[in-house]
Amino acid sequence: MSKSSSEIDREIEKLRQELQEKEKEIDQLRRDRSEYLRISAHQLKSPLASISFSVDTLLKEYAGRLNWKQLRIIEAIKHSTESLNALITDILELERLKSEKPEFEYVNIVDICSKVIDDLKAKAQEKELSFNINLPAKQLITKGLRFGLRQAIYNLVENAIKYSHPRGIVEITVGYDEVEKSISLIVRDYGIGIPEKEKEKIFEEFYRASNARKYEKSGTGFGMAIIKRVVELCNGEIALWSKEGEGTKITVKLPLVKDVESEKPSKKKEGKKRKIVVVGGVAAGPKAASRARRLDPEAEITIFEKGYFLAYAGCALTFYISGLLKRRRDLTQAITGYPDPAEFFRKVKKIDVKNLTEVIKIDRKNKKVIYRDLMNQGVRSMPYDVLILATGGTPIVPEIRGIDLGNIFYLRGVDDAERIKHALINEMAREVIVLGGGLIGVEIADALTVSGARVTIVEKKNQILPFLDPEMAALVEKYLDLKGVRVLKNQEVIEFEGDKKVKFAKLRDRKLPAELVIIAVGIKPNVELAREAGLTIGETGAISVNQYLQTNDPDIYAAGDCVESWHAVFEKPFYLPLGSIANRQGRVAGSNAAGLKQRFGSVSGTIIIKVFDCHVAKTGLNEREAKEGGFDPVSCHVPEYDRERFIPGAEIISIKLIACKKSKRLIGAQIVGRGEVAKRIDLASTIILKRGNVNDLIDLDLGYAPYYSNAMGALVVAANVLQNKLNGYFDGITSIEAYKLINEEKDKYTFIDVRPTYEYNQERIPGFDSIPLETLRDRVDEIPRNKPVIVTCESGARAYQALLILKEHGFENVKILEGGLRMWPYFMIRE
Ligand code: FAD
Repeated sequence: MSKSSSEIDREIEKLRQELQEKEKEIDQLRRDRSEYLRISAHQLKSPLASISFSVDTLLKEYAGRLNWKQLRIIEAIKHSTESLNALITDILELERLKSEKPEFEYVNIVDICSKVIDDLKAKAQEKELSFNINLPAKQLITKGLRFGLRQAIYNLVENAIKYSHPRGIVEITVGYDEVEKSISLIVRDYGIGIPEKEKEKIFEEFYRASNARKYEKSGTGFGMAIIKRVVELCNGEIALWSKEGEGTKITVKLPLVKDVESEKPSKKKEGKKRKIVVVGGVAAGPKAASRARRLDPEAEITIFEKGYFLAYAGCALTFYISGLLKRRRDLTQAITGYPDPAEFFRKVKKIDVKNLTEVIKIDRKNKKVIYRDLMNQGVRSMPYDVLILATGGTPIVPEIRGIDLGNIFYLRGVDDAERIKHALINEMAREVIVLGGGLIGVEIADALTVSGARVTIVEKKNQILPFLDPEMAALVEKYLDLKGVRVLKNQEVIEFEGDKKVKFAKLRDRKLPAELVIIAVGIKPNVELAREAGLTIGETGAISVNQYLQTNDPDIYAAGDCVESWHAVFEKPFYLPLGSIANRQGRVAGSNAAGLKQRFGSVSGTIIIKVFDCHVAKTGLNEREAKEGGFDPVSCHVPEYDRERFIPGAEIISIKLIACKKSKRLIGAQIVGRGEVAKRIDLASTIILKRGNVNDLIDLDLGYAPYYSNAMGALVVAANVLQNKLNGYFDGITSIEAYKLINEEKDKYTFIDVRPTYEYNQERIPGFDSIPLETLRDRVDEIPRNKPVIVTCESGARAYQALLILKEHGFENVKILEGGLRMWPYFMIRE
């Protein structure tokens, strides 16, 4: 029989009462448990304090000297005591939160975050972690538990530090939503993350993720429970995103009770402050901002940088990879002296830095930039009076199948260097392919070889370092070979093969093992922002600027790798993405943005790179460029000691000078060698920029002491040789031309080595016969008169003597192998 409705009501009422009773019981049990836990915890605290004190006394050796075994044991006791203490503190805190009636106060979340960050800075520094802090310039007030919230935020940031990998980044962002009336706090790390299956348990008491327990022994398993409890008590919400191996992001939302502009010192009435906005924060951008600040202390200056790091030593990235620079902060504090350059700009220079923020549009009409905060994807705008574009360059991405596989990297910024280091150190990648034998490819090949990798450079063209002439590049190739770097020229990678990570690089005729690949096929200017804003892009593909580095919009300047420069010899715009130019241009753009009218001169295209302990440099034009430019070039090759040869440590530098045949104007220089190259190339650059000729170089009055130079100076010696050639005293051929003749047309020429027999026997170029200089006059009849003669010696000086003797004897077609054996890049017979 079914029950009547009144019976059912009565039953429900009875059940409700029973439930209430049970709830009361449970509440009482909870309170008892809580009380019990609190009393026990308190009871445990006092003996623990005394153990702690005693352990400290022992460790500080007040009770006598300890040997290392005793030290280890006592340190272990200290560690366990600290863990126990932390656990008890956490239990107490959690129980307090559960049992006490919350007392709410007005709490400024931005303020708490700043304090927590300050408190945890030392911990972050121990792991060489960087904080990326994004706090608004407002006070964001919620109503909640002051100490609880402080504890929760502390736990959040501390966890992020604890579970980050060394040298990682911890991001802390506070934002607000005026409509939703909420404050959001995001703490993001890129550390070990939480396994998928364990995510839902992470807020439970005593729970620690399995990988967290392995990674970091200390931890009570209460931290997350406390955070959750506090947030809920404060009427907030907490959300977790995490991926094992990729890190964790925790978002806390709290009610926004009020937002107040941060107090700033009261300002006296002033004229309008100039607003200078700089886009790009590596070399040209920070230089421009700093210069503008020096000239205009009142200006409001902001640097936008879409990456995390700024003002770092980009040109030293390979030194970090090779290990010459030991710590990441050697790169990041190199320019400003501050481990965190953003802090330097904000605090010392009074320049606002917005990193991890991308400028996505320039609104020229309303003179403002639109930007996106890459942390929270918020889009905002900022007005400018003057805008400086320093958006730099981007590595070119070749179209190759498999290019997206893991362990295929580019090298442009600190993050890239970290990834490459990770592959080398953590994954023990040893077989490395460097795609492209340009400046960066060769530098990285050096760094990776020093790090213990086996490196192959795959180069599409028939030479590496295209800024050099082929015979000079061949000297570098020989040197790379000596150092164990394989160079494959006229080769292309057509596919990268692998499973998630690269394993092989497939060339047309072979397959190479590849555990790590660096793509270094060139840099292109980053001009999309400028192009979209209607700024003129030059023929080189970079932003076109006038001599004041002004774009076609007079309020927008551009500097660095995104602009083209005026080439002093070509006398036309030229694209040369170099740190030297970027810094100089940044300074000029900063001056002009602050109201000066400073000119940026022209560039001579001076490049210098280190290839192991060999130095490679070029200024002006190479011979190919000179021919393309219609200069009718004449060149010479001179290997000279960088100091008196009797000085220990004296080294040879191979010099190539190029002049214009008619005007004798010096238009190019290239130097390769282990000796002092830098000062010589800088001298040549100075002469070229000043439009000097070969005589101007010869007339230089240079400092001399045997330790620093030879009496004439290596560059002046080379200039004299070039002058002889320009005057028609001799003619020469390059090593590459000679090599071709020996291999393809040997019978049509006579090749003579005029060094003494003992030198010839020791070392010689295959194909050259020996007629020592002192016997040449007597043996002249042995030399066929119907063939051109090529003479050589060690460096060219004795070959020149030989040429004069042969001409004296009626030989008309005699040429010197320029640079002699010292600049011969190919195989030589050695006995
Ligand atoms: P970049 O360094 O490219 O910086 C531009 C910055 O702008 C980037 O960080 C980018 O994130 C940011 N950006 C771009 N667009 C936006 C946007 N819309 N919003 C916000 N931010 C944006 N040069 C030398 O002279 N000598 C050397 O020995 C040398 N060695 C080098 C070695 C290596 C491995 C590399 C990679 C380069 C080397 N260079 C060298 C070149 C030198 O580093 C660059 O010329 C120099 O960094 C250029 O500076 P930049 O400020 O113009 O541009």
